[in-house]
Amino acid sequence: SKPVVAVVGRPNVGKSTLFNVLAGERISIVKDTPGVTRDRIYADASWLDRTFTLIDTGGIEPDSKDIILSQMREQAEIAIETADVIVFITDVRQGLVDADAKVADMLRRSKKPVVLVVNKVDSFEKFMPDVYEFYNLGIGDPIPVSAASQLGIGDMLDEIIKHF
Ligand code: GDP
Ligand code: MG
Repeated sequence: SKPVVAVVGRPNVGKSTLFNVLAGERISIVKDTPGVTRDRIYADASWLDRTFTLIDTGGIEPDSKDIILSQMREQAEIAIETADVIVFITDVRQGLVDADAKVADMLRRSKKPVVLVVNKVDSFEKFMPDVYEFYNLGIGDPIPVSAASQLGIGDMLDEIIKHF
């Protein structure tokens, strides 16, 4: 069966935007028990000669800090259980935050392959200096992308399919 790629990251970093870029129209939503916040969105995606299943574990987007962190932990657990490759999305505009570091620790301990993506790099010239701080997460080279402007997407996909 196809490799599974799970997308995790804080609310508002651009998971859905990136997901839509990768998935086009081929999206389906899988609902779990109401209130459990384990809804997953699946899509088939492909790059070069590889096809894979993409999962957005985002579910309901919470707004309290405690809920964000607990939901991110849950997302990371789902990703660690089910994915062959985990795409961890961060936001260059918000910079590196504590919740990112906590999730990075979980992902690192899992030993699963992780692709660290820094989104909203709409101008490489302007934002690249801010991308380097994401090296501090200790989960590999940050890959700059702009989901909205569709920049860096090919380089990101190259990194993802290397792990299949
Ligand atoms: P999610 O909560 O992680 O799924 O994030 P969304 O995909 O819903 O995006 C949150 C906000 O960030 C929306 O207003 C998007 O338009 C915006 N956004 C997403 N990707 C980019 C990007 O590459 N650049 C900029 N400037 N904004 C983006
Ligand atoms: Mg979303």
